[in-house]
Amino acid sequence: MRNIVILGSTGSIGTQAIDVIKDDPDFHVVGLAAYGSIELLRDQVKLLHPEAVCVYDKAKAEAFRTYGLPVRVLSGMDGLIELATMQSCEEVIVSVVGMIGIQPTIAALKAHKMVALANKETLVCAGHIIMPLAKAQGIEIKPIDSEHSAIWQSLNGECHNRIERILLTASGGPFRGKKREELHGKAKEDALKHPNWSMGRKITIDSATMVNKGLEVIEAKWLFDVPVDKIKVVVQPQSIVHSAVQYVDGSIKAQLGLPDMRIPIEYALYAPDRHPLLKDERLDLAKLGTLTFEEPDLETFKGLKLGIRAGATGGSMPTVYNAANEEAVAMFLEDRIDFLEIADVIEEAMDAHASDIIPSPTLEEILETECWARSYVREHSVLTHR
Ligand code: MG
Repeated sequence: MRNIVILGSTGSIGTQAIDVIKDDPDFHVVGLAAYGSIELLRDQVKLLHPEAVCVYDKAKAEAFRTYGLPVRVLSGMDGLIELATMQSCEEVIVSVVGMIGIQPTIAALKAHKMVALANKETLVCAGHIIMPLAKAQGIEIKPIDSEHSAIWQSLNGECHNRIERILLTASGGPFRGKKREELHGKAKEDALKHPNWSMGRKITIDSATMVNKGLEVIEAKWLFDVPVDKIKVVVQPQSIVHSAVQYVDGSIKAQLGLPDMRIPIEYALYAPDRHPLLKDERLDLAKLGTLTFEEPDLETFKGLKLGIRAGATGGSMPTVYNAANEEAVAMFLEDRIDFLEIADVIEEAMDAHASDIIPSPTLEEILETECWARSYVREHSVLTHR
């Protein structure tokens, strides 16, 4: 029996994780956390009978209490941390969105819980805190991201010092092959149409700008302990090769599969074992026929170039990259800036931060840097004040 807590249970990863484990008697869900989707959370409580839930939004937590379910109801950051460190919990799936994932992840590691991580911000902003902590506790962080899962699988049985480079694949998003001049005035409806993956709105825009890949470069640097210059982004438009590792003899090991998030979720939960996905479609290589690969276009998709720069700079810069992007995406979705200006806004914030980089920021300094970047973009960015 494995007692598990899912932080972010009503999101895309959380709901798929529940689909994977709900019929497996080896798993027992002891805690669930949602931001504010209380109706779905209520259904999940009825299905899984956890001991406690956390509704992050305090007013929504009050509304949830009126359902009168036999479950302890927590709220806010304290509630997330309490769930992540609960006595009965052995493993935490961190699939909340945004920087609220950092503190519960640190708390879970300190309390010796296993961690399956689907939250990018945790490693992007606090990789220098999380990875040494995990190592000191003897805990391997299990990635739930298709690319990082593929890299993790490709590293099985290999020696770290034989890695020549990591090949991080990218679909290229809905605007792959377009040049800058073709992307002026692109509407959010076009940016929200991802060719292969069905995901939330924010990550779909991040895929169109390739900021998502920039964040993943930084995550890979921390997860696999490789410098950014050993991580090569390769565009793989079919999203079949989910990433690969090239070794010193030139060999490449990759993981291939259909674009289905249940595969990395299952691998994180069952590794090194594999769980059968029965009645499902299989990747048929002969039917697929062709796999193609391209160099990324770093001039058009400046968001990726900036991510590589933020990852190579390190310290507090990745936090600025991430927070400025979140603000820029929100402004794009509010029709306040143009698609191409998302990367311009991030660059402006990173340039403004360049003389104030904190080499190894504490959690408090990370949160302060985040606030600075958000207010810089909202209040001082020249681009948002034309
Ligand atoms: Mg990914």
